[in-house]
Amino acid sequence: KILAAQVTPLPGSEDVGAVIVLHDNSELRRLETIRQEFIANVSHELKTPLSSMMAYAETLQRGALDDSEIRDSFLARIMEQGERLNNLIQDMLRLARIETAQQPFEIEPVDVGAVLGQCVHDYHTQAEAKSIELVYEPPADKTYASADEEGLRVICNNLIDNALKYTPDGGRVEVRWRRDNDTVLLEVKDNGPGIPRGDAARVFERFYRVDKARSRELGSTGLGLSIVKHLVQSFSGAVGVESQPGHGSRFWVELPTAR
Ligand code: ADP
Repeated sequence: KILAAQVTPLPGSEDVGAVIVLHDNSELRRLETIRQEFIANVSHELKTPLSSMMAYAETLQRGALDDSEIRDSFLARIMEQGERLNNLIQDMLRLARIETAQQPFEIEPVDVGAVLGQCVHDYHTQAEAKSIELVYEPPADKTYASADEEGLRVICNNLIDNALKYTPDGGRVEVRWRRDNDTVLLEVKDNGPGIPRGDAARVFERFYRVDKARSRELGSTGLGLSIVKHLVQSFSGAVGVESQPGHGSRFWVELPTAR
């Protein structure tokens, strides 16, 4: 879109002529809007736990300290909110490092089965606490993806963590992967609430949540899938989600195999 045009006679010339300068600043405006939205989002995300911590501290200061039951419960909530702030800052730093390519990626052959197996193992206790059946079905053969080991671990952890977080007690989460020519396909499938069609494409955006109140309650930062998307992109892969609202979600990641 052309937003400005300037007509200037050629200096010191007898020629009749004009220079027309056309500025296309739509991209600049788009970036400025993204920047402003990001600052507004970050401020809001930081302010919410902070206000809550200050309200608890103020109530304690006004006398609630004397009641040991209230004191313990408020102190626990202050700690909880502090942890939320900490997670948020960690996630924001991680995302910034990936986006600005400061993260020192070591793109190398990564044993997919070993990383996924370890991730699933690490989530067993969390699944058990919600009586969720966590199923892992690896193929018999070894496959190496062209990725960074720590990055692949973060991808798997975020997807499994979400599946366990959003799937109600007694549900089922399945983790799979398979090689398909020169790509490897990873899948995390759950039978939780699913994601409405209009939201599915947006869940990979920073701070986008389908149900803000519920996600916050679950201690989420709204950055997990955005981190996944950026990591997958830096490994030249692809990521997506298919969902049937009310029946569950299937998140998939495709990565190139190592030569
Ligand atoms: P959050 O920290 O809020 O979980 P994410 O970026 O990881 O942030 O996810 C964004 C949103 O996508 C979540 O708030 C939730 O609404 C939705 N979501 C992610 N994974 C699932 C899932 N397995 N089932 C249902 N909804 C999900």
